Amino acid sequence: MPQDHLLRWANGRWTAPLVRRLGLPQPRVLPRCTSAYGPREFEGRHVQRVRVPSGAPDSGGLADWLRHRGAQLWPESGRLGVPAPDAQPSPRLQTCIVDARTLIRTALLDELHDALSDAVRQMAPGGRMLFLAPAAEESCRAALPEALLCRRALEGFMRSLARELGRRGATVNMVCLPQGPLYDAPEQWAPMLRFLGTDRSAYVSGQVLVLQDEADHPFGPAASPWNDTLAVVTGAAGGIGAATVRRLAAEGARVACVDRPEAAPTLDALAHEVRGLALPLDIIQPDAPDILAAALAGHGGIDLMVHNAGITRDRTFARMRADEWHTVMAVNLQAILAIDAALDAATLWKPGAREVCLSSISGLAGNAGQTNYAATKAGLIGHVQQRARIWQSSGRRINAIAPGFIETPMTAHMPWMAREAARRLNALSQGGLPADVAEAIAFISHPEATTVQGQVLRVCGLSLLGA
Ligand code: NAD
Repeated sequence: MPQDHLLRWANGRWTAPLVRRLGLPQPRVLPRCTSAYGPREFEGRHVQRVRVPSGAPDSGGLADWLRHRGAQLWPESGRLGVPAPDAQPSPRLQTCIVDARTLIRTALLDELHDALSDAVRQMAPGGRMLFLAPAAEESCRAALPEALLCRRALEGFMRSLARELGRRGATVNMVCLPQGPLYDAPEQWAPMLRFLGTDRSAYVSGQVLVLQDEADHPFGPAASPWNDTLAVVTGAAGGIGAATVRRLAAEGARVACVDRPEAAPTLDALAHEVRGLALPLDIIQPDAPDILAAALAGHGGIDLMVHNAGITRDRTFARMRADEWHTVMAVNLQAILAIDAALDAATLWKPGAREVCLSSISGLAGNAGQTNYAATKAGLIGHVQQRARIWQSSGRRINAIAPGFIETPMTAHMPWMAREAARRLNALSQGGLPADVAEAIAFISHPEATTVQGQVLRVCGLSLLGA
């Protein structure tokens, strides 16, 4: 796979000054964590909570939750330069959790500057800033006419900050919490906090995740823990697919690896490595959905389906051949619909089952030369939204992941100029790694992430495309 030389030079002792002098982008090596989740995800991390407005009621449980997971909490108020007594000398802030859930009056926007300017200055390279914001637009409107304005203002602020802090390899994201039982229950935010608040979300920035409340949407039966999970990953022999198989297996899931028969040797080796199953199958063959359903029926059903297989056949629309259009439609969209229909018909989804579809930022923003690809990836988002409604009270969940530029065999085939541009046109000035997408999949399909439904999570380093 082509290497990102600029990333290496910008971080090399002897080459970094030259990169600076030439005025080139200076991407940072991002801190990453790709092992299985542990009980102390914040071990040793310097964490601060900031409330905006400062007099907002405290969610005391959050401090305890963080402390129990190993965080070194900085005092909530006062000068940020004063670390906790047990902290190392002059530490930098690694995670800043900004509680802006009561920022619903325009006048309160003034407070953002005073509340956050110290924290932003103190952020460590590769740090995480996470905003907790009021939830769905309907509840914002109902609460106060200004609430929606404030939410939007906060989003604009958050994304701009994400672009500024991206130069330090740091990220900024937002989680919107609905009024209701979830609002004041930090233990329920755990999946989001340990993903967006730690090194696990290295290539996720400027994103807004809207959580659902169980009071509005009963979640149904609980999902099995990872070690009782049977997961299927299509396109398992490719870049993102293989990383996802390894990541899910690290959590203890049994993974069925699906890819084209030509990839059988790679598939066998991967399945052997993770003690999973190899299912060589061309998903566009008419009998593929039934073959897959029959194989899964033999294992008692499915807990997690990751529709990852995908192809590109890039050409401007005027010059695109019919076969290039139809093949992309068949692999990226029609095969997924046919597989889902077969699994539905055979009632193979186990209680609490999850589904993840790999979309793309091309599907959100459009991309010249990718009309076929973008149509399928946007269509997938419609599929996810539609199915989320149908699955709403069944206890099953479906979400989409929309990667930006990820360093895989797929992007290795891009022309050099286009590849370089795609790498740099994001807040982190580099491409993501397959492991970054796999980590997002492991988060969004986590058995405990029951409040994440029908969402599209971009893993794109806050790409300029479709921002
Ligand atoms: P990749 O080319 O490395 O892997 C894709 C895999 O899908 C391959 O192993 C291929 O053999 C398999 N596949 C293709 N057609 C198949 C078929 N008919 N039956 C079974 N398997 C088939 O690609 P990747 O970069 O790992 O992409 C994975 C997914 O992520 C794709 O859906 C892609 O559209 C999406 N995505 C990737 C990027 C990126 O930058 N790499 C960006 C946005 C979205």
